[in-house]
Amino acid sequence: MPVISSKKPYRIGRSRTGLGLFATKPIKKGSKIVRYFGPLLDSKKKKDDAVDNKYLFEISNRWTIDGSVRKNIARYINHACKPNAESDVSARKRKVVIRAIKNIEPGEEINYDYGTDYFKIFLKPIGCKCDACEKKRKKKRAEARAEKLRLKLKAEKKVAKKAVRATAKSRGKTTIAKGVVDKGTITKATVAKTANAHARGTGKPTKTKAARTKSLTTRPDQPASPALASQASSDN
Ligand SMILES: [Zn+2]
Repeated sequence: MPVISSKKPYRIGRSRTGLGLFATKPIKKGSKIVRYFGPLLDSKKKKDDAVDNKYLFEISNRWTIDGSVRKNIARYINHACKPNAESDVSARKRKVVIRAIKNIEPGEEINYDYGTDYFKIFLKPIGCKCDACEKKRKKKRAEARAEKLRLKLKAEKKVAKKAVRATAKSRGKTTIAKGVVDKGTITKATVAKTANAHARGTGKPTKTKAARTKSLTTRPDQPASPALASQASSDN
């Protein structure tokens, strides 16, 4: 890591994506922070044109700064979509300086926008990790969570509603069942009466008929509750 004079208002430090450049002193909006420094590459020269690394800074169609050299402190500055600095390009002088576009406080990371080409080639495929994009992602995640929760609650509500409807339906069924039971009891009583009449008529009640009559009238474990009566009726 290059040594930076303590007079400079920045230091190299750990950032979200690896290393970054951080303010150590207040930096005034508009002031020059650091030069983007490196040998000039001439695209008309085959050898120069063949150079490829992540730190190439294109000044014009012809000239590019190869910023991969160790002395180029500016290469530690990370990209941000909403930066606090900018690259100030002077095509005529073939010079680039990084300039503050906001007042930067000590401790703040210094960023500038690398431009659309760099973003498309290097950042979009891996996802930009700048504060603005992280915030956006966080917001999206929070929204997704909220939506998931909303759907879950909706599903739960639906289930609860179904349960209520099912209860109401089964209550309705109980009423109907009661009617059936009553009918059944009546039928049975009628049968019993008929059996009695038959028995009386013949004078010789058969054992089964008498037993049935007895079971209907005197079973001790069959109180006249509709539920149990229904059990009794389902015995037949
Ligand atoms: Zn971003």
